Parts: sequence; C-alpha cells; structure tokens
Amino acid sequence: MIKDTTKFINSCISCQLLKTPIGKKPGLLQPIPIESGKPLQRLTFDYLGPLPPSHGKKYLILAACSGTKMAFAKVVANATGAETINFLMDIVTSYGVPK
Ligand SMILES: [Zn+2]
Repeated sequence: MIKDTTKFINSCISCQLLKTPIGKKPGLLQPIPIESGKPLQRLTFDYLGPLPPSHGKKYLILAACSGTKMAFAKVVANATGAETINFLMDIVTSYGVPK
C-alpha cells in the first residue's frame, strides 16, 4: 500500500510541482573576494563549443580578469589543457606577468 501510494505521488505532475522542497534553502551567491584588484591577478577561463568548424577550429576559449573585467578570446581546435596553457601564455606574453 505504501509502495503504491509513493509510486502514485511520484508519478503525479501536480504533486511534483506543488510539493514543498525539503532540505536547506539554497543560499545566496558568495562572490570570490579580489585581494588586490590589480590587472591579471585572477583569470577565469571557459570554453564555448563545439561550434561549427572554421579553418579546423571549433572551440572558443574565453578568459576574464576578475579585477578589471577585461576579456580575452581565441578560437582553438580542441578544448584541452594544452590549448588553455597556450592561451594563457599568449596573454602573459602580450600583457606581462601579473605583479
Ligand atoms: Zn497529485
């Protein structure tokens, strides 16, 4: 009887939509503090793709500086650690090592 009731409730869309969520309430986002605010102290990376290939490249790698909000982008063939390191080296060789 309990099994049938549980099965019925779990399959009822109205009950699933209206039920009170259990557990802790989701918390607010906690921003990561920026220690210095200097350029290039903290970069966040992300890949976008796979996209339709163009000249053999199908991923877009993005980096954003947490302190200045400056963004960097590059198209790459694969979303790999090696591509990420190459992209980071491009940024460092263009703008220098963060102080
Ligand atoms: Zn129901």
